[in-house]
Amino acid sequence: MHHVHHADHIRAHEDRPDDGFLLEIPGTLSICSIIYRPRSERINTQMIRPGKMLKQVLDSIFKKPATTKYPLTKANMPDKFRGKIIFHPERCIGCKLCMKDCPSGAIEIKKVGDKQFECEIDLGKCIYCAQCVDSCLKKALEATKEFELASLQRDTLKVVYKAADTPGDAGKASQ
Ligand code: SF4
Ligand code: SF4
Repeated sequence: MHHVHHADHIRAHEDRPDDGFLLEIPGTLSICSIIYRPRSERINTQMIRPGKMLKQVLDSIFKKPATTKYPLTKANMPDKFRGKIIFHPERCIGCKLCMKDCPSGAIEIKKVGDKQFECEIDLGKCIYCAQCVDSCLKKALEATKEFELASLQRDTLKVVYKAADTPGDAGKASQ
């Protein structure tokens, strides 16, 4: 076995009599570990060849970063993201299937007039599963991409969507 001192990089010593090899990470706190792996599965402890590395570096320069600068830039949520639920009162028929299927009791539909329904969603209770959206046969509920909904006051998390006066009115939300 070779003893390595003051080396710049990780060294693997494979000249052991058994099927293991010694991995040594030199430094102030040297770490040594014997790794037993079948010879065929041994990890490649050698550096990536400079040519290959250069290609990776150049590729990365022209690639878009995988991360974004959120919250400094706007978060671009994917389609079908399940964020804040909104209500389209003109489509609601008051069947209350959404209320029945909501696993957290976060949604309430109230009849406020002839074929007029109001919807209250408690954003503090909602788990954003969008079950209500799937359950509604009239497409009166919709999941949006809005997710910045945190509040220090619990009562501001109750959103009321008023009944529509005229069809096509998207419903005014009041909190
Ligand atoms: S929102 Fe949809 S599921 Fe809920 S009461 Fe209205 S029509 Fe029914
Ligand atoms: S998204 Fe889920 S938890 Fe929220 S109101 Fe709809 S069914 Fe209830």
